[in-house]
Amino acid sequence: MPRQKLLINGERLKMTLEQFADFGRTENNGVTRLSLSEEDRRVRGYFQSCCEELGLSVKVDDMGCMYATLEGTEDKPPILIGSHLDTVKKGGRFDGVLGVVAGLEVVRTLVENQIKPQLPITIVNFTNEEGARFEPSMMASGVLSGKFDKSVMLKKIDSEGVTFGEALTASGYEGDVENRLKEASALLELHIEQGPILEKEALSIGVVECVVGMACYEIEVTGESDHAGTTPMNMRKDALFATNNLINEIRKRLSDLDEELVFTIGRLNVYPSIHTVIPNRVVFTLEARHKDMEIVNTVKDIIQGLPNLGVNEGCEVKTTKLWDRDTVWFAPEICNLLEQSTQSLGYSNKRMVSGAGHDAQFIASYVPTAMLFVPSINGKSHCEEELTTWEDCEKGVNVLLDTVLTMLSK
Ligand SMILES: [Zn+2]
Repeated sequence: MPRQKLLINGERLKMTLEQFADFGRTENNGVTRLSLSEEDRRVRGYFQSCCEELGLSVKVDDMGCMYATLEGTEDKPPILIGSHLDTVKKGGRFDGVLGVVAGLEVVRTLVENQIKPQLPITIVNFTNEEGARFEPSMMASGVLSGKFDKSVMLKKIDSEGVTFGEALTASGYEGDVENRLKEASALLELHIEQGPILEKEALSIGVVECVVGMACYEIEVTGESDHAGTTPMNMRKDALFATNNLINEIRKRLSDLDEELVFTIGRLNVYPSIHTVIPNRVVFTLEARHKDMEIVNTVKDIIQGLPNLGVNEGCEVKTTKLWDRDTVWFAPEICNLLEQSTQSLGYSNKRMVSGAGHDAQFIASYVPTAMLFVPSINGKSHCEEELTTWEDCEKGVNVLLDTVLTMLSK
């Protein structure tokens, strides 16, 4: 017989999310809670008091990440549930905080039902996921996983010249390197989708299989500046017209590769940008993302081949790779567990990819990890309009609870 489903308290989840949003709530019902700001310091204190009230022990590592643990009956690596409590400027009430509050709600449900788990359950708050105050984003998980060098990160400065290290010390959340996340049985990160797919397809849950790989290039087109009135059209080296040709070629060639490929020319600067002068220089960026690295590599070949396409109108074209990253695949066994729990609860769902970066992608390098998405209304995030229905938040946390119970019963 299937076991009776234990469910979380949706009303309490909603209330808790609203309580957390009070730390930095904006006029338009968004949240500004930059990493290690006064708002962040206060929400951390509130999170800690919620955890201690439940009897959890709270530890902090040397990057300010918080770990609140419900002891297990066996001394084994914990199941982690978490995300981040920091936000961008004028961000929303769900990005990040949902994954942390989800952990709190799962543990609250276990404790009130007097369930003593065999494995410890740890709620995690990763420091500075957003990178909105101190670049780069996913800073702490990057250090934990060895992707970033701690000594370099400590020197990163905000717009006021304060270093990350100074802000960490001042916040009172500079803990011990000993407390860093090491071995774990699993990391489960519930997050809002930040895109329109689930809502458009009227689905409640996305089981995230990977964070897609990407490549980002800067392309510089150099021509010659001359008088806009006196230079005949056939005697020009117009960097902007050449750029226009290149962009058309990029769009055509990349569109032909795969319908799931997304690509963006997010920055384009024209020089000297004077209406009587032929542009002599254009610099633009192109970034492309896809889960299949073969396709990402084909994009790289296309970009690197741009100087030789014969559409440059006499201008010089130079391409520079700014950065790239490989697709990070999540643990298939954890994805399966999340999917089974979703289906056993009767929630509509699909498998999907994440086009955005998350702490989970770094931690996945040493902990079996997977993510769950819930719909973002109108696909919006990183803005005050960011919204996920309470019902979908509740469903997401129910899936986490069910998955944790399944892991514990094994
Ligand atoms: Zn986030």
